[in-house]
Amino acid sequence: LSGKLTGVFERLRRRGALNETDVMEALREVRLALLDADVALPVVKDFIAKVRERAVGQEVLDSVSPGQQVVKIVNDVMVEALGGAGAVGLNLNAPAPIPILMVGLQGSGKTTTSGKIALRLSQRLRRKVLLASLDTQRPAAQLQLQQLAERAGVGSLPIVAGQTPLQIAARAMETARREVYDVVILDTAGRLSIDAALMEEVKQIRFATNPAETLLVVDAMTGQDAVNTAKAFNDAVGVTGIVMTRMDGDARGGAALSMRAVTGAPIKLTGSGEKLDALEDFHPERVAGRILGMGDVVGLVERAAETIDQAEAEKLARKMAKGTFDLEDFAAQLKQITKMGSLSSILGMLPGAAKLQQQIGDANLDQKMLRRQAAIISSMTAKERRTPDIIKASRKKRIAAGSGTTVQDVNRLLKQFDDMSGMMKRMNKLGQKGLMRHGLSAL
Ligand code: GDP
Ligand code: MG
Repeated sequence: LSGKLTGVFERLRRRGALNETDVMEALREVRLALLDADVALPVVKDFIAKVRERAVGQEVLDSVSPGQQVVKIVNDVMVEALGGAGAVGLNLNAPAPIPILMVGLQGSGKTTTSGKIALRLSQRLRRKVLLASLDTQRPAAQLQLQQLAERAGVGSLPIVAGQTPLQIAARAMETARREVYDVVILDTAGRLSIDAALMEEVKQIRFATNPAETLLVVDAMTGQDAVNTAKAFNDAVGVTGIVMTRMDGDARGGAALSMRAVTGAPIKLTGSGEKLDALEDFHPERVAGRILGMGDVVGLVERAAETIDQAEAEKLARKMAKGTFDLEDFAAQLKQITKMGSLSSILGMLPGAAKLQQQIGDANLDQKMLRRQAAIISSMTAKERRTPDIIKASRKKRIAAGSGTTVQDVNRLLKQFDDMSGMMKRMNKLGQKGLMRHGLSAL
């Protein structure tokens, strides 16, 4: 354990209440984690202030360490800042045809998201949806939306050359009324950056169509710019909801917190891929963990505490800290995990584990598979377990034969170990900053 933080938390323990200096010291690490997740600086400041207000003076519960308690408060405040527990759906409380206006910078994913929302509304809610592209900037833009409409099996506004975005919007609404559509999704053109002409254009469209939803589409990778973008669009058109795209990437999604703080509008949906069905409801609890870079640490701490004994956890934490986590530990970890319940549900709580979770889900991980993995590891020599890098083709063959599995099985296990130790390293990085390691070692 890093001596400094232990010191902080030891003092906290003795006092029995969280005091200002100590909380601020712990929050310095949280602040770094937020900046690292690309949360905009002013938003970080507000967030820290809120946590401090909540934490200072709070009695430390007997059953948890002060460190865990701070983690819990940070997590709670984050979930609230992101909109509280649960997802907010699209507002469709308006007379048909209901206009939904899509705004955002170029390349943020407006057109793709228009198609995704159309698919969802038509499949899940059986709404008759019309897609209309008002993008006269890029020559192929209207065609792109038309193709998406075909794939989604929804209507699209016929393309007429030479019309302005405003004229197209009017035609879309007329067509929707005449052909009795329930919802009209108006996909606008973006610009590479905020400019006055763009804002004026969306403003006019907004005024002319009076949409039930004005959805700001933002790339999850957006960093400090998120605040400016959100502010510009919100001032011009009054954003009613936010869609975060590219949540399937590596971005921690700090933009969500920034956008929400600036506009006050809920994040309604997230995009998780290029395919039309890659649209999810926004779950504040999950994204909170992702932004903090520690997964659902609170839930993990709660569940793990029931099953992992302190000695085991401390040993693992030390190994992670030293970077000596090897296949032997991986085997021990697998055993603990079977005790804790389904591996995939635990992994779902960890940051960046979605891919691993999917792999495991795909492999239909169950007790049988865990036993097979244990067999593979026990067919390795001690040296192979300590330094898995030396396991090349001939060793793989031997291990497979020894454990009654295939070389593919051995490869898969080594890949999982790789992914997991990568994850450990990332968790440990935050741990160096104090938070996670304290949480884990205090189990
Ligand atoms: P627009 O300029 O705002 O209309 O952006 P587009 O909808 O044309 O999207 C730009 C690119 O981002 C396209 O290649 C999309 O396939 C891709 N894209 C959109 N949403 C997502 C997402 O959620 N995940 C990933 N990986 N790619 C996305
Ligand atoms: Mg577009």
